[in-house]
Amino acid sequence: MSDVIRFEDQVVIVTGAGGGLGRAHALLFAHHGARVVVNDLGGSTHGEGANASAADKVVEEIRAFGGTAVANHDSVTDGDRIVQTALDHFGRIDVLVNNAGILRDKSFHKMEDADWDLVYKVHVEGAYKTTHAAWPYLREQNFGRVIFTSSTSGIYGNFGQSNYGMAKLGLYGLTRTLAIEGRKNNILVNAIAPTGATRMTEGLIPSQVFEQLKPELVSPLVVYLGSAACQDTGGLFEVGGGWVGKVRWERSLGAGFDPKAGFSPEDVAAQWQRICDFEGAAHPADNVEALKEMMANLQKYAL
Ligand code: NAD
Repeated sequence: MSDVIRFEDQVVIVTGAGGGLGRAHALLFAHHGARVVVNDLGGSTHGEGANASAADKVVEEIRAFGGTAVANHDSVTDGDRIVQTALDHFGRIDVLVNNAGILRDKSFHKMEDADWDLVYKVHVEGAYKTTHAAWPYLREQNFGRVIFTSSTSGIYGNFGQSNYGMAKLGLYGLTRTLAIEGRKNNILVNAIAPTGATRMTEGLIPSQVFEQLKPELVSPLVVYLGSAACQDTGGLFEVGGGWVGKVRWERSLGAGFDPKAGFSPEDVAAQWQRICDFEGAAHPADNVEALKEMMANLQKYAL
């Protein structure tokens, strides 16, 4: 049996926790003893309006079972205020779950700057602002867990979600670098690509499947990633419907050409099958590993 995961001395911020997945994360953290900052601006799925009651209701739910929580109604684009709420009420911050999000789906030829900008602002700038405000405190105490919410739409692409896919894969890029920068201060950073039945996915997923994709089936992974028990960093996990799996990059072994002699587009065409062949593929874990094949090619032709 695994050790019990508890957060008695810890403070967790969950952004966008007034509903959907964020609410489920906040409740589960609170059930595991965390003091929780429930952030939510309370706007629409499209990022319009604001309503304090979304976050307030979840705080009430947590208090109703004897948990400890406080609401924050700021936008994640004012992430410093969310972190300040944690400091003002609880004096510290240990775990940050960047979850807030909106959709402005449109096929690319209909995409307007406002749709592109707002999706970027909430998902990427919001996660940046909140994490950047929390970072000095996590560094100072040599402990932190940060979770970013990516999406399969970012990993694999999805029709009508160029803005959203860009933002969601951007968050994985942020995850990878913060995992490297945070490691020496025991700040571990991971990303999830969830699937859950929320207002965001209502109507997009067939109703029979939708009913089974409870948001609560995503939160156990998030709470684990937020705990001291988790020692992984830089990971990306697909999660939903009671299933969890890890995603990694894969790269073909590729084809090498003589860098001194140069090579032509026709040479590329001749090697295309080999370039795209994933037989015996590599799974570079970092930049140094990623550059190994290129360096080997330079060496091969250096003599
Ligand atoms: P949701 O709409 O139920 O929850 C999102 C919450 O974020 C809402 O409560 C909303 O008020 C809040 N929010 C929006 N903009 C905000 C802002 N500027 N500041 C603070 N709060 C803000 O949707 P959800 O499905 O629970 O989505 C949660 C996260 O999971 C999002 O980042 C979403 O992109 C991601 N996601 C969800 C799914 C899914 O299947 N539900 C799939 C992939 C990714």
